[in-house]
Amino acid sequence: MTGLSDSFQRPINYLRISVTDRCNLRCIYCMPSCGVYPMSHRDILTYEEIHTIAQAAAELGISKIRLTGGEPLVRSGLPNLVQMLAHIDGIDDIALTTNGTLLNRYATELKEAGLQRVNVSLDTLKPDKFESITRHNLFRDVIEGIEVAKSVGLKPVKINVVVMAGINDDELLDFANKTIDEGWHVRFIELMPLVGEDTPAPQFIPVSDMRKRLESLGELEPYLPSVGNGPAMYFRFPHTKGTIGFITPVSEHFCFQCNRLRLTSDGKLRPCLLAEDEIDLKQPLRNGISSAELKRLIKKAVARKPLRHHLAEGCIPKDRPMTQVGG
Ligand code: SAM
Repeated sequence: MTGLSDSFQRPINYLRISVTDRCNLRCIYCMPSCGVYPMSHRDILTYEEIHTIAQAAAELGISKIRLTGGEPLVRSGLPNLVQMLAHIDGIDDIALTTNGTLLNRYATELKEAGLQRVNVSLDTLKPDKFESITRHNLFRDVIEGIEVAKSVGLKPVKINVVVMAGINDDELLDFANKTIDEGWHVRFIELMPLVGEDTPAPQFIPVSDMRKRLESLGELEPYLPSVGNGPAMYFRFPHTKGTIGFITPVSEHFCFQCNRLRLTSDGKLRPCLLAEDEIDLKQPLRNGISSAELKRLIKKAVARKPLRHHLAEGCIPKDRPMTQVGG
């Protein structure tokens, strides 16, 4: 039983930490083509500061951590942070969300440091299209990274696909076939309208449509995964090892089961990805805050979690790009 719960009685046991706002890709739905102005290094939390916050959060009942970004693997020494977090009493699950371009280089070290599992964002199985979505030619590196991650025992490797009409929706069945033929775990995510003119609304496809198209391959059976604490609903085709997950941030919010807090790369605790409210931890930490005071601020952030987001009603947070908050 977690020691933290919010004002709507949701247990909060999961901390997503954005370790950097920088990214080596420029995905069309995530970043404007001109990129975003990077934060200076002194504005970003040090690994020691992240560790101090995670330690306090664990003492309050946080047991699961996910590292994200920006692209977490562009920050040097990430395995060192994983190792520091893995030694915190009460943290029993450390996962990573990555674009996979640097996984081939770091998967072994990450596994040895205590990383358990990894989600890789990959929106297409076609190298040319990969380049037009991400504005970089690194498709082969991602595929290699996925293979290396599996081979070193990061389990499960889940593939996150943001589905966009007219861009990659023609590959829904190709990804689904990967779950049948190669045991992939694929999660289809609805496009959130976060970047503005780069992702016009007509590109949005609801999960209900994706599902109908996938069912041309066979019946999708509900599936309950043994690990994971996220918002996806899982299914699989009969007698297959792989799974298909659906994430519906737009068509059907899953806020009623939200169990998370987010720590931005510059040290703000954000009660909700899609609301602009934040509580600063960095300056208090640098001013020498006590552990008790730090815990009080964490509890304050938990108490300020809103009941739900209002993306479907057009309320889109404008304060920061996704890369700073950590998707
Ligand atoms: N760089 C890492 C990666 O690519 O996984 C971590 C950061 S990225 C912001 C985290 C996740 O957010 C990715 O799976 C990405 O596809 C998703 N994401 C970013 N912008 C999105 C949007 N507008 N709609 C839906 N998902 C989005």
